[in-house]
This record gives sequence, C-alpha cells and structure tokens, in this order.
Amino acid sequence: MRSDILNRVSEFSRRELFDNQEHLDSLAEAPLPLYQSFQDTGLMNWWLPENAGGAGLGLEDSIDIVSELAYGDAGAAFTLFISILGTSMVSLYGSDELKERYLAPMAKSGGFCATLGSEQVAGSELGNITTTATLQGGNLVLNGQKFFSTNSKFADFLVVVAKSATEPSGYSAILVPKNTPGVRIVKRWDMIGLRASGTYQVTLEGCRVPASNALNGPGLRLLEIGLNASRILIATTAVGVARRIRDLSMEYAKTKPLGGGKLVDNAVFASKLGQMEMQIDAMKSQCKAAARDYDAIMHSPDAATTFVRQGTLKSALTAKMICGQLGWDIASKGSEMFGGLGYTNEMLIGKLVRDMRYVSIVEGGDDVLRELMFNRYVVPVAKRS
Ligand SMILES: Cc1cc2nc3c(=O)[nH]c(=O)nc-3n(C[C@H](O)[C@H](O)[C@H](O)COP(=O)(O)OP(=O)(O)OC[C@H]3O[C@@H](n4cnc5c(N)ncnc54)[C@H](O)[C@@H]3O)c2cc1C
Repeated sequence: MRSDILNRVSEFSRRELFDNQEHLDSLAEAPLPLYQSFQDTGLMNWWLPENAGGAGLGLEDSIDIVSELAYGDAGAAFTLFISILGTSMVSLYGSDELKERYLAPMAKSGGFCATLGSEQVAGSELGNITTTATLQGGNLVLNGQKFFSTNSKFADFLVVVAKSATEPSGYSAILVPKNTPGVRIVKRWDMIGLRASGTYQVTLEGCRVPASNALNGPGLRLLEIGLNASRILIATTAVGVARRIRDLSMEYAKTKPLGGGKLVDNAVFASKLGQMEMQIDAMKSQCKAAARDYDAIMHSPDAATTFVRQGTLKSALTAKMICGQLGWDIASKGSEMFGGLGYTNEMLIGKLVRDMRYVSIVEGGDDVLRELMFNRYVVPVAKRS
C-alpha cells in the first residue's frame, strides 16, 4: 500500500473518528457529514475500477484502509466499504451502460450503493426469498420486503436479489435506482453496535425498472461472488477494533495501580497482551491472504467467468470466521481488563465489544459459514450439491 494513501486514511480516522466516539455511537441521522470529509480525501469508493474512473485499489490495499478506518470507528468503516458488495456485482456482471450510468458517478463524486438480499422469513436460506421480479414488456417489476439493508436510505442505487415470478428456480440481481417509485424505507434498525452506520428495512411495491437492469447471471451466485469482498472487509474491521482494544488496554494498564506498581508491569497482563498481539497478527495475515486470492482472480483475463465457477472463496470464509472468533475473544479479554469499569458506559471498551459482535453475524453467522465450508470444501467434489 502506498504510504501517501494510508496517511490520508489515517489522518481522516484520527481527525474525524478517533475522538468522536460519543457522537458516532449516538445513532445520529445517517449519513453523517463526516462521510463528505472522507470524500475530500479523494478515496471514496477506492476499489472502483480505473475503467469506471475509480482509483482501482485492490482488496489487499483495502485491508490496510479498512483496518485504519475501523481503528477509528467500525460503523464508519462499514458504511464506507459495504458498497463494495453491490458495486463488485455490477462491475463484474452489469452491462456497459449500467457501469457508465451508475459506477462512473460513484467514482467521480462519491455516493453509496446498498444490497438487498436478506428477508425475515427466509433467513440465511436465500433460496426461500419471496421478493419477486416479474417481466412486463421490457420492464421488471419488483415486489417484496427486505429485512436488513445497509446504506439503502441514502444510496444512489440498490442491488436487489429477487426470485423470478414465473420460473421457480430463477433468481436475479437487479439494479434499482434510488428514486424508483415504490421503494419505501420502513425503518432504521436501532443496532447495538456500528451505530454510525444505517441499516434499514425496505419495502418494494411495484418498482419498475428496465429489464436491462438485471445483472448478467444467476442472482444467488452473483450475490455469493459479491460477498467475497465484503466478508473479507467485515473480517478486517475486527482487526481494526482489536488493535484499538489492545492500545486502550495498554493505556489503562499504565495508570492502574497494582501491587505497589502498575498493571502494565504485571506478568499476567504481559501474557494477555502477547496473546492479543498474536491473535491480531493471525487475523491480519488471513485477511491479507484472502484478499490476495480475490485480487488474483480480479486480475485474471476473465474474472467474471472464473468467479462464477469458483463462487465463495475458502480463504474469505476462513477470514470472516477466524476474525469473528479471535476478535470476540480479544473483546472479552479486553473488557475484563478494566474490571467493573469495563461494564460501564464510562469506558470506550463497551462500545468496542458491541461493535466487534457483528463480525460473526453479518453476511452469514458462523453456523451458516461452517456449513458452506463443509459443502464446498470438505465434501468430495463429485458429491457436492
Ligand atoms: C448491521 C447489519 C447490517 C446488515 N446489512 C445487510 C445488507 O446490507 N444487506 C442484506 O441483505 N443483509 C444485511 N444484513 C443481514 C445479515 O447479513 C443477516 O442478518 C445475517 O446474515 C444473519 O442472517 P439472518 O438474520 O437471516 O439469521 P439466520 O441465518 O436465520 O440465523 C438465525 C439463527 O439460525 C441459525 N441457523 C441459520 N442457518 C443455520 C444452519 N444452516 N445450520 C444451523 N443453524 C443455522 C443461526 O446460527 C442463528 O442461530 C445486515 C445485518 C446486520 C445486523
């Protein structure tokens, strides 16, 4: 990663996020004005390809960027990177016209994209979604209810995963511009963490878009492909939050009296922090390894076809699970470190614990990812479903 880019991100993180925790944790109206200030760094949507006018930074570079943002605030980091889920689907499987009309402005003047997959009843069994897309003339008409969708209230466009109204096994991913009549935000969820971000329940009632807004390929597979990048970056937020917990623990231990000295001089404390550092290093290494796998495919001559064949990357699943699990262990040990104070809202550690929780839940809980890992990478190829 070029040091000037990382410096710009670090400066933003220290200036806008680091000392602003109370506001970022307050569920203030999203999007916060500070996202405009990120736009001023010239790095908004940094992964968008150069042929769409973007900076074209790879996922390996994104690990350093997201870790630095999440060190400042995980909710802000999530808001800034989660558009990658929908934009990578559009970039790989959208028509040239869609890329020109929707990705190029995002690269030029910022903005957000939201992806609408989850539904209340279907849960993680996305094959059971009930949002439908009906072909009428040259249009697709969408109807349904999406339970969780980050950024959708202020996104420039949505990528909606829907089932074909006529073909039971057919699913599509469809680009729906923000102001399409029939898109209704039902509510913003009051999440326990990531409170600088906005996640919404959305209803689609007779939303009509041109049939050419459907991405080219089977919708559930395209979603799975898009999830590679965002799962790796969700994993990376755990690295940033864990680094913050480590540094907070050090700060506290330097002032906390213990046995005539300070906690920082205690061997048990040293052992805990040594363990934390090892965990952070393993988490970061796995995120980087997964990002390199992703970048290698993105740089291959026919990335779109290779990804359709490959689907979910094993290293992306590993990154998300290992970071969720080790991150949660760090959050738990970190909160213990502060004694009773760690259980009060006086200390930042409480917020960091709440922020860390999402890593093992969003975009597939560990039970779901373990099952996916089993079906894709443990069951012999000949027997795979
Ligand atoms: C902050 C936040 C942001 C989000 N943003 C978005 C977004 O932008 N777009 C979007 O589409 N979604 C979004 N989501 C939804 C999120 O991805 C899902 O909530 C998550 O994947 C978990 O799925 P679920 O809620 O359907 O729960 P489920 O997967 O149904 O899980 C409920 C329970 O069932 C268990 N379970 C489920 N499947 C299995 C299985 N196969 N074997 C054993 N146990 C199982 C789970 O372990 C869990 O205990 C967001 C959620 C949050 C909290």
